[in-house]
Amino acid sequence: MDTPVIEIRDLHKAYGALEVLKGVSMTAPRGHVLSLIGSSGSGKSTLLRCANLLEDSQQGEILFEGEPITWKGTGLHRRPADRKQVMRIRTNLSMVFQQFNLWAHMTILENVMEAPVTVLGRPKKDVEEAARAYLDKVGIGDKCDVYPAQMSGGQQQRAAIARALCMEPKALLFDEPTSALDPELEQEVVKVIKALAEEGRTMIIVTHDMRMANDVSDHVVFLHQGRVEEEGAPADLFGAPKTERLQQFLSATV
Ligand code: ADP
Ligand code: MG
Repeated sequence: MDTPVIEIRDLHKAYGALEVLKGVSMTAPRGHVLSLIGSSGSGKSTLLRCANLLEDSQQGEILFEGEPITWKGTGLHRRPADRKQVMRIRTNLSMVFQQFNLWAHMTILENVMEAPVTVLGRPKKDVEEAARAYLDKVGIGDKCDVYPAQMSGGQQQRAAIARALCMEPKALLFDEPTSALDPELEQEVVKVIKALAEEGRTMIIVTHDMRMANDVSDHVVFLHQGRVEEEGAPADLFGAPKTERLQQFLSATV
């Protein structure tokens, strides 16, 4: 079998005395969409942040394409010694955040081009061509010269997705990509995520949107207080939840 893009084994992470991840394991095979659900504070963002080396961890292992990348630290926010390695992992596991995080002083095209040009040192001309194509793909090809403040939240989030795609990552990590959006704008972003799933992109999506999780995922993981409480195919998890905690969670979120 193909080596998974991301594999997390028995990961433990604490902030001081607060144990946030208590032995989490999770696998994202190539071309699969994994959704991560759970109440606020269950450790979903922390797990994503560990995976792309924004956080260290204390025990367990994270593998990127079979290679251990685990950064075992002290919780003191020391960065791993090899910055090149960190950059490579961040590039390959591109993250999309709830709060788009676009540069306000740059046009949309400049936002999408920034990291591939300055971080990866790719030729400007090639990057511009790719950036325009990705902006087209997410349906805002006409917004290249506009500034973020002039766009709706849904358009800004789609620009953030184009920016992540322009890094040509091996996987996309989404942290509540639709949570900051009004319901009608949410659907624009869901549509883009669905299209990416249909293309066979490897993705891990933290979401509160159970309908999207049901529609796009190959596998759903329910995190409860830092542990995987239940996981499986979306039809099983949403159709016939086994644990009482998941049943409660689902009835509270619908
Ligand atoms: P979720 O994304 O599922 O809502 P988080 O991973 O953000 O959960 O947070 C899990 C727990 O870790 C929460 O109790 C949160 O307060 C705590 N936490 C998150 N980040 C930090 C941090 N940088 N320092 C201390 N505690 C944190
Ligand atoms: Mg979170």
